[in-house]
Amino acid sequence: MTKPQGIAVLGATGSVGSNTLDVIARHPDRYRAVALSGNRQLERLFEQACRFRPDYLVVPDAASAADLAFRLRSAGVSSQVLHGAQALEQVASLPEVDMVMAAIVGAAGLPSALAAARAGKRILLANKESLVVAGRLFMETVRRHGASLYPVDSEHSAIFQSLPHDYAGNPDASGIRKIILTASGGPFRARSADSLLQVTPDDACNHPNWVMGRKISVDSASLMNKGLEVIEAHWLFSTPPESIEVVVHPQSVIHSMVQYRDGSVMAQLGSPDMRTPIACAMAWPERIEAGVASLDFFSLGALSFEAPDLERFPCLRLAFDALRAGGDAPAVLNAANEVAVSAFLDGRLRFVDIPRVVGEALAAVDLRASQSLDGLLSRDAEARRFAEQQVAAC
Ligand code: NAD
Ligand code: MG
Repeated sequence: MTKPQGIAVLGATGSVGSNTLDVIARHPDRYRAVALSGNRQLERLFEQACRFRPDYLVVPDAASAADLAFRLRSAGVSSQVLHGAQALEQVASLPEVDMVMAAIVGAAGLPSALAAARAGKRILLANKESLVVAGRLFMETVRRHGASLYPVDSEHSAIFQSLPHDYAGNPDASGIRKIILTASGGPFRARSADSLLQVTPDDACNHPNWVMGRKISVDSASLMNKGLEVIEAHWLFSTPPESIEVVVHPQSVIHSMVQYRDGSVMAQLGSPDMRTPIACAMAWPERIEAGVASLDFFSLGALSFEAPDLERFPCLRLAFDALRAGGDAPAVLNAANEVAVSAFLDGRLRFVDIPRVVGEALAAVDLRASQSLDGLLSRDAEARRFAEQQVAAC
């Protein structure tokens, strides 16, 4: 029998992280959780550690590490508890780790995802912000170090599955006319512009089809999530912005499509369950059981499609603008959005002011391309400071 493959699950306590552990648990002969990380939900991390018995756990600081280590010893679990951002990079590079699930939310997930790339790992990428902030650098690092990159975002997994299997990053050579990203439209798809003035964080997090972390839920409600995904698709598949189209498809059954020159459209369908793209990224080119219900076409009824409304949801337009502007514009867009979303979730900013803060950051912050990771991180910090001032002024 072959040895199970070692996985580091970064962001294990989150929505994607927990779904990843669910898939791992179904295949103990194939996969072993070598390292798990969590930021705040340390009770959940403790439970996961008791169940999966990883070699390493990573928490944010020394005090929580000491606390967790004590509780684990009492429970007879011998995992070593590390702490800090550096430890995330360390576990992403361990020789016993074959694949890294990058499921931390936000730009905070970039350094560890990059470390996995430098260590030549198989990267299962949920953290789309890594590609938005540092797309060029990230893709170059993957290539240079012989890492492999498998998208976990359901749309990008769908595109990956709908492309030719030997796709080498040249849309024209593969006869591709465009990539069509589907969007559910989020919880506010049918709401009037006026009613968006009053919406609360709980309204925004009440997604019709998916259960996700709060940040991505707000992004889905503002359509910024789709904007980030447009930028993600550009880097993953080398498609120019004009060859990426967004179609609102409220049922979230078609996860995305590729349209070819001869008129063919290849699509990937399935129940809206993240375990499908997670299992696909883990096992590709094999297909493994993921606990996902089969799609029942007889109970599906109709699938519908509409154009996104960029007036009510300007974040999608801002993301396209940032991608076209190039340089550090996507990094600035992302940083300002993270600040604005967090302020909205804390009750310090109205939902409709999220695109205002992002638009103002794009207009004010220097967008010229940084040449290094440090440059990008200081641009990210500058955009955050500017966005915080805008939030305070709103
Ligand atoms: P989540 O909020 O449920 O989980 C986030 C995880 O990151 C948690 O484990 C948390 O402890 C950890 N984390 C947060 N801040 C951190 C920090 N500063 N340092 C270290 N760890 C930190 O989020 P999620 O919904 O699982 O999303 C994770 C990523 O996957 C995001 O980038 C999101 O865009 C992407 N994604 C999620 C889904 C989904 O269905 N949830 C789908 C597609 C893509
Ligand atoms: Mg998605």
